[in-house]
Amino acid sequence: MMAQYLEIKGRYADALLFYRMGDFYEMFFDDAEAAAAALDIALTKRGQHLGQDIPMCGVPVHSAEGYLLTLIRKGFRVAIAEQMEDPAEAKKRGSKSVVARDVVRLVTPGTLTEESLLEARRHNFLAAWSEVRDEAALTWVDISTGEFRVVPCPLSRLAPELARLAPREVVVSEAKEADLAGIVYDSGAAMTPLSRGSFDSTGAEKRLCDLYDVATLDAFGAFDRAETSAMGAIVEYLDLTQRGKLPLLRPPVKEAPGGSVQIDAATRRNLEITQALSGGRDGSLIAAIDRTVTAGGARLLERRLSAPSRNLEEIHARLEAVRYFVSEARLAECLRADLRKTPDMDRALSRLALDRGGPRDLTAIRAGLAEAGRMAGRLSDECPDRIARAAADLLGFDDLVAFLNDALVAEPPLLVRDGGFIAAGHNAELDEARQLRDEGRGVIAKMQADYAAQTGIQSLKIKHNNVLGYFIETTVTHAEKMLSAPLNETFIHRQTTANQVRFTTVPLSEMETKILNAGNLALEIEKRLYDGLKAMILDASALISLAARALAEIDLTAALADLARGEDWCEPQVDESRAFEIEGGRHPVVERALKRSGEPFIANDCALTEGDTPAIWLLTGPNMAGKSTFLRQNALIALLAQAGSFVPARRAHIGLVSQLFSRVGAADDLARGRSTFMVEMVETAAILNQADDRALVILDEIGRGTATYDGLSIAWATLEHLHDVNRARALFATHYHEMTALSQKLDGVDNATVAVKEWEGEVIFLHEVRKGAADRSYGVQVARLAGLPTAVVERAKVVLDALEKGEREGGTRKHTLIDDLPLFSAAPVTPPRPAKGPSEVEERLTSLHPDEMTPLEALAALYDLKSMI
Ligand code: ADP
Repeated sequence: MMAQYLEIKGRYADALLFYRMGDFYEMFFDDAEAAAAALDIALTKRGQHLGQDIPMCGVPVHSAEGYLLTLIRKGFRVAIAEQMEDPAEAKKRGSKSVVARDVVRLVTPGTLTEESLLEARRHNFLAAWSEVRDEAALTWVDISTGEFRVVPCPLSRLAPELARLAPREVVVSEAKEADLAGIVYDSGAAMTPLSRGSFDSTGAEKRLCDLYDVATLDAFGAFDRAETSAMGAIVEYLDLTQRGKLPLLRPPVKEAPGGSVQIDAATRRNLEITQALSGGRDGSLIAAIDRTVTAGGARLLERRLSAPSRNLEEIHARLEAVRYFVSEARLAECLRADLRKTPDMDRALSRLALDRGGPRDLTAIRAGLAEAGRMAGRLSDECPDRIARAAADLLGFDDLVAFLNDALVAEPPLLVRDGGFIAAGHNAELDEARQLRDEGRGVIAKMQADYAAQTGIQSLKIKHNNVLGYFIETTVTHAEKMLSAPLNETFIHRQTTANQVRFTTVPLSEMETKILNAGNLALEIEKRLYDGLKAMILDASALISLAARALAEIDLTAALADLARGEDWCEPQVDESRAFEIEGGRHPVVERALKRSGEPFIANDCALTEGDTPAIWLLTGPNMAGKSTFLRQNALIALLAQAGSFVPARRAHIGLVSQLFSRVGAADDLARGRSTFMVEMVETAAILNQADDRALVILDEIGRGTATYDGLSIAWATLEHLHDVNRARALFATHYHEMTALSQKLDGVDNATVAVKEWEGEVIFLHEVRKGAADRSYGVQVARLAGLPTAVVERAKVVLDALEKGEREGGTRKHTLIDDLPLFSAAPVTPPRPAKGPSEVEERLTSLHPDEMTPLEALAALYDLKSMI
């Protein structure tokens, strides 16, 4: 057995090997040690190899999925070796012969299909990148839904594309492994190197043609060599991990490189589009706006938000569809009620294709298609094209649904081998076998009565278990009678337990065989019928996929309409202009958070165009006033509009945005060994080098990570470059009030500030964005709000006054500041009073009535009081 183990392990050196032994997957040697630590399970020993104990650990097969999930999350790959024959077969070959085993599947982060291992509402992408001469391409699949796409992607675009897709695993050529490691790991994906041969574009073309059973790939579009190579490599990898059982892949779709708004990784992080800065989904844009009711709809929303469109026609069509459901609220609600009943057909299909499905996947398809038909019936001819097209895709499954209805019971078991999922009356042969089996059970029930009468033992029972099959059972007290003549001629002893004695009879075992045979036959017929139904569904898989896609489209559209109505969002006007005019804009995530605590969100306007030329707003104002919120809400409004959603504003006019950039004075990125300032500058450089005149740029306190004058100079020069060279629409928040002077020098640069009110020395945040510059930063007041000790706040005020005075007098006195300032005193201005009751002195004082005292008495009292201190 060890020889067999080592042979298989040798072929899967980079994976943990789950080696099936009966009801367990066992792991040995280093695998066992790694897995035991990762899973926190017991490490044991079994036998010896080369004189050393063999470490071993194992997980039960029935609960293996949970363990698999942990291992995959921790970055392992797992090869699953199953027993390929019945152990009885192996015995026949000789008592020492080992059951044949082989790997049936390599489980990796990018190739999961199990419901329990996947997040229903998110895609699970596997990507591959390839470079052939001066062409390069990125391709990705979600094998749990069949999605397959490719896009030209030079190395410089790889990081942003990976940020958009967030794949779990990226396949690259061995030769490029070292170059790509940084980019891939930064994206959070696992990297899998494959041999150069797997990326050979000639072999790839053949592999793809075989997969789709076509003579040439032209049918799907024109693919260059890099694209073909990347797609071929991904298919080869699937073949490798799925051990020859290829998932259902839809025909590859080529994405136009300029089809969606370019958003790089840092911008995605900053805007918290699909993930909050804290890492989870909570607090992200998607969490705040997702009202879809199906997993497919949720995945589509994630795709749309990750890649807002740059195609006006597409954006208008999406908006038209949302507008339709906004006005047809009743219809949308009915459709949403239907949708809640549709299962995830995409994932059911993929499990069926990979032979990992079961009867419930058949009924999922049945339920989904039946619901699809009902929904199509609700949609009239007047609906917008996009909805009408989706509705058409929902039709045409009546026969299939009728057949599945006839074939399947309402609530089937999970596994094929449990049987009982084919409905009665569907197949005569099956009905007959089942009848035989059930009649046999009836006969046995009758036998029990007969035997009780024959023996006179009323408590005699016929029972069944998996070891003995059917048997007759009596208590030990009656056993003597059964074991002696004449009964012992009929009743054959099988087993004696503590309280019971068990027997069989010739007719009983004959009947058992009959039942068993009929039962086995029924199960075999069911399996055959299952395969037939599966094949029928897979034959229609292309159309079923389209229907699933249409359901997702309707779900998302209705969800966006529901959101727009519920949150009072407006339809944005998106066109070819350079406009960026938002009236009454809001930040959907901050607004939602404030709503929970009962506070209102103050809506704000923004206009980044002057005539048809792009403009820049320079935003000043104290910390906590709402600058970042304002900056981000405008970026999110643009993103939502181009994703095809209504937007959180009273009115929005947006000229198509090609790129979205957002930078924030970054947090330390110590893990990557770069200082805050370095990260900030690298990111700023990327914007200044890339932004075009259709970009929307948001810069939040750029330059704050260094000394004041350095920072100011960099921020200044950056703004000038954005204005003169990039000519982008931009929002620029800064603490450097000196910069507000730029608005006089540069056309199209406007000052804006977030208003605050000062009241009795405290700041009150109004969160209102107004034209003009902030007069001061109120940093000291904000610090006090944050709970800085009073002594420090007071001291800061003194230093600030001295600095401002110096500034007014010509800035010459800064160096003498240290001498001019009074000494710092950490002693609190007024010592805090102990919170105890009145002191003895106080009590005595309150008891005195000066008006009634003579001068002498007063003097005596005074002496008295002094003595008490
Ligand atoms: P800044 O960037 O100026 O330091 P933030 O944008 O981080 O300020 O906002 C600070 C807090 O103020 C937010 O967490 C939010 O609670 C509140 N806030 C911001 N903008 C608004 C608004 N328009 N209406 C109401 N509250 C707001």
